[in-house]
Amino acid sequence: MLVRNVKFNSDNKIHSIYVNDEGMIECIDCNRKDGTVIDAKGRLISPPFVNPHSHLGYALTLKYAKFNESGTLLEGVQITREEIIPKISEEDLRKRLDIISKMLFINGVLYVRTHEPVLNDLAIKMLRIREEFTNLIRIQVVAFPTPGYFYGDNIERAEKALEEGAEVVGLIPHSEGSIEEGYKSIKIATDLAVKYGRLIDGHVDETDDPSSRFSEALAREALVRGIGKRTSISHMTASHSYDNWYFHKLLLLLRDSGVSVISNPVVSLHLQGRYDNYPKRRGIARIRELMKGGVNVALGSDNVIDAIYPLGDYNMLRVVQEAFLVDHFVASEVTSLISGITENGYKALSIVPPIIEEGQKAQFIILQARNYYDAIRTALPPFLVINGRYYANNNVSFLVNDSDITDKVINIVD
Ligand SMILES: [Zn+2]
Repeated sequence: MLVRNVKFNSDNKIHSIYVNDEGMIECIDCNRKDGTVIDAKGRLISPPFVNPHSHLGYALTLKYAKFNESGTLLEGVQITREEIIPKISEEDLRKRLDIISKMLFINGVLYVRTHEPVLNDLAIKMLRIREEFTNLIRIQVVAFPTPGYFYGDNIERAEKALEEGAEVVGLIPHSEGSIEEGYKSIKIATDLAVKYGRLIDGHVDETDDPSSRFSEALAREALVRGIGKRTSISHMTASHSYDNWYFHKLLLLLRDSGVSVISNPVVSLHLQGRYDNYPKRRGIARIRELMKGGVNVALGSDNVIDAIYPLGDYNMLRVVQEAFLVDHFVASEVTSLISGITENGYKALSIVPPIIEEGQKAQFIILQARNYYDAIRTALPPFLVINGRYYANNNVSFLVNDSDITDKVINIVD
């Protein structure tokens, strides 16, 4: 396949890329062509997007149970645990993953981390079938002990999932039975990560409660044990409600420990602030302050079409746009926000980003726009997604009375 007229950010010039039948980048600018030719019309090439926080195992299960009428995380989690997870067989998971993998793929996501409950061995089911979908996406699995390590036999179940190959140890300290158990769960998770040589990613401080301070405890433990760069803190929505002195102290610890923070602005905006009267808090991690303070911040989709969030489609550019909107970013910062779903995401997942060079496997996306600014502004799915021999082409065009105005409405802030 030849992809012509591709804009590279590295030199701001137009190039062509020839991908051979094995799905390798055979040459750049050699203008060799046989088979498919795609004209990118000057659109920007980018590394594939990363979705660093998701729940693929129960995505698209909205209609498996009654609707979440309160809209709270607590009701969503309860419906998921009691009514949805027990219904998920390997076959059901396979059917949904077939759709989910394509949804991720057409949105340019080739790498995704998913938190899978250890209840009903959902994490193990995911580990067993994920290889069937690697042509399109790579799935990294977190052994997720929801609603806590001290619930039933979750400690043993989590260990079993790690033995079966889960790359990441999960935790959810604010959801444990007590504050003491929350702190103990941090010790359990870090012990497991050291014992099995795994990464850590916890649902931590996913509340509006300013006294929920498990992020500090996890970052401190990771720093002391020298595993900060292998540790991620997902959500940290309580940081929205911390006083500024405490947040500043926490920020320094996060920076020094090397932990990543993964925020999920779309779903957190939906779930948090539910117990407030007006004015309602936004309830998201302080993305902007964390980024400015030198912390590695990645942005995830979290739930899609389930009891916790009933909408969603894995469009990561919309996630970025939401982060911009909800945390008061400004125009000069728009382009840099793309790092949340590219380099910062890869860093959180401890994955080396694909390189766009001759001799490498073809793993790249071409956006609908000629620059990241317009791509984030329009939040359209990529024009072209390539993973080796597999590709998706989404050639958006806007017509007014048969006159093509696509270029005029997409490429505005070049
Ligand atoms: Zn989550």
